[in-house]
Amino acid sequence: MPYSFADIILPLAVRGRFTYSIPEHLSQSVLPGVRVRVQLGNRKIYSGIICRVHNNTPGFKNIRPVMEVLDPVPLVNERQLDHWQWISDYYMCSEGEVMKAAVPAALFPSGETSTPLTEKYKPRKETFIELAAKFSDIELNEILDKLARSPGQFKILTAYLHLTGYNSDSDIIPLRKSLLLKESGSSAGIFKPLIKKRILAAVNLEVGRLKDYGNMNEPLRQLSDSQRVAFNSICNSFKEKDIVLLHGVTSSGKTEIYIHLIEEQLKQGRQVLYMLPEIALTTQIILRLQKHFGPVTGIYHSRFNEQERVEIWNRVADKNPDTGYRLILGVRSSLFLPFSNLGLVIIDEEHDTSYKQHDPAPRYHARDSAIMLAALHKAKTLLGSASPSIESYNNAVNGKYGYAELKERYGLIKLPEIIIANTREAYRKKLMVSHFTPELLEAVDRALGRNEQVILFQNRRGFSPYIECPECGWIPVCIQCAVNLTYHKTLNRLVCHYCGYTSPVPSKCDGCSYPGLATRGFGTEKIEDEIKIVFPDARVARMDQDTTRTRNSFNRIIQAFEEHRTDILIGTQMISKGLDFENLTVVGILNADNLMNFPDFRAHERSYQLMEQVSGRAGRRQKQGKVVIQTSDPANKIIRLVLLHDYLTMFRLQAEERKNFYYPPFSRLIRISIKHKDKALLNKYADILGNDLKATFGRRVLGPEFPIISRIQLWYIKTILLKIEKEKPAAKARQMILESIDRLEKEKGATSLRIAIDVDPY
Ligand code: ADP
Ligand code: ZN
Ligand code: ZN
Repeated sequence: MPYSFADIILPLAVRGRFTYSIPEHLSQSVLPGVRVRVQLGNRKIYSGIICRVHNNTPGFKNIRPVMEVLDPVPLVNERQLDHWQWISDYYMCSEGEVMKAAVPAALFPSGETSTPLTEKYKPRKETFIELAAKFSDIELNEILDKLARSPGQFKILTAYLHLTGYNSDSDIIPLRKSLLLKESGSSAGIFKPLIKKRILAAVNLEVGRLKDYGNMNEPLRQLSDSQRVAFNSICNSFKEKDIVLLHGVTSSGKTEIYIHLIEEQLKQGRQVLYMLPEIALTTQIILRLQKHFGPVTGIYHSRFNEQERVEIWNRVADKNPDTGYRLILGVRSSLFLPFSNLGLVIIDEEHDTSYKQHDPAPRYHARDSAIMLAALHKAKTLLGSASPSIESYNNAVNGKYGYAELKERYGLIKLPEIIIANTREAYRKKLMVSHFTPELLEAVDRALGRNEQVILFQNRRGFSPYIECPECGWIPVCIQCAVNLTYHKTLNRLVCHYCGYTSPVPSKCDGCSYPGLATRGFGTEKIEDEIKIVFPDARVARMDQDTTRTRNSFNRIIQAFEEHRTDILIGTQMISKGLDFENLTVVGILNADNLMNFPDFRAHERSYQLMEQVSGRAGRRQKQGKVVIQTSDPANKIIRLVLLHDYLTMFRLQAEERKNFYYPPFSRLIRISIKHKDKALLNKYADILGNDLKATFGRRVLGPEFPIISRIQLWYIKTILLKIEKEKPAAKARQMILESIDRLEKEKGATSLRIAIDVDPY
């Protein structure tokens, strides 16, 4: 029997679904997951996605019909729709907001639309190299003999033959030029003579249509004994549990274990989602994966343009094993791709806070949402980390998750030696050279002397976090936000890191007209400047938000460091995560103090993780690395634990503290922020909401109060935090919160408020 009504998700922040009638001529084509066009209100036409068809007559008159169906087959599958619904319920946002985050904008013009939705996208082409002719073995031998005098050309041809496994019986296989260059360690100019001699040929191929890679897949590496033990223990745990935590020290070979698990899933014909917290990381790991798994491997992150996103979306949806993606490596948003048959989700660096989306809604946590996604596919989830989140480790301790461990580095290389350098004492004894302690300078100097590489980590970008009048203490602040402006030397401007506002550097103080404003504190830009003065011969590069704005900037900086065209790399947390450099032996953490002095219940956990993580970049091959942590507080508990690589004690202390003060994982947090351009009105409405919530939730309500940054882009902000018992039904609490907010929104004048709900805030 045909259905009469359809519920439709529209790209709006309004909670709830919209019901339309299904006209008879569309009854065959209105299916869950197809895009449709409908009219909303008197004039507006929206495109939306059908999420349900049914026969329940809605309780309002004037039911409008679906105007047009835009897809012959569903664009979004039913599991995705279920997943969207879960995210919208749990994170208290509209399904429309989830849809906007999930579907590439090119497939889905949001808001009002009158032009038909055509999917215009150019297929992506890439240069490939192949043999110019199907040479026989004898011919090939002659060619190789002749090339013996040109080692560069010889090397690239042998690399090609090796990677493709060419023999005269097989077909000619095109190889990505970039891959061939990387594998042979050659530069691009080398192809010219070979192409001129008609030995090799360059072809432009559409990446989506490639098939025959069969031979280029490199065999898997053999697991070490302890890796084998961990691998087996993961497989065994998966027999009973859906989620397993792999706790492996840095460079223990977690990635290698993932690769083996992926192999098993692909063999069974299932898809794998492999999530990483940082784009910079994907560029390194994608090469490792493509080597084994070839073109079924796709990559997804925010640097792709809309057309490319559509292409990736289509290839994930493509069920043909020759042309579709089976393995996706991606950041947070990759969990929205149209998987049809997931067998395994891997969440690497599962503790990383960038898995949580702050703004705009949906404010989802990609780890937790991916666990849910895996459950919908009846797939397994593997969480990996060298320093797991307190939440996940606690779940392993209480048996909810399986647990596997890798305690040693691959090749039995020792974890890096940690040296704590006391900056306060060094300043007092006048031993500091700019921001560097003698310990750090000595370690860098030695590394450079041995032709090894160095990473310097500083959690702030720009030159100095603020400038100040030494006479009266005046500090320039943003005109739109309650924050100090950061001085950027290359721009020669002050910049607000919250809204992007910039201003010229004032020549004198606003308060007392004193002309000598001083820079205070230091960011990556300043470190770069000053390390160049100390080590004038070293090749220095910087990786932070300012140097990675263009699309390939990550690749360029990482590749230059990999190929040792850079000696010292300075960076923010971008460089702290899973990167793997062969020749990197010394890591410096320039200011551990500003990691820990953060008023957040996760500050200690985070600073431990960050220090452990950055340290983990040092000495990953051949020999033990060295890490210098600069701090004014060498006795600090967390630093002591990093020194001993003592995760377990860190976990115990943190878990105890959280239990005592009733923080996650022993409670649930929901944070409501309320914004208004008028401070007095904000106070008024925040109090109304606060009191209304207190009537229901009593002492579980904290605030309202101004957060540390109390104004952003002209909007004043107040927050209310709810701490709710784990045992209480969460759905009911969410509903009561929404009712309170509805009541507030009905107050006179409340329309000029902005309200945001953040469930499990980070
Ligand atoms: P993690 O992900 O735990 O930080 P990786 O998987 O990156 O560790 O491994 C660290 C280094 O050791 C990498 O360079 C990797 O290639 C190498 N490695 C790890 N396991 C193996 C193995 N079984 N065979 C060969 N090399 C390995
Ligand atoms: Zn002054
Ligand atoms: Zn600002």
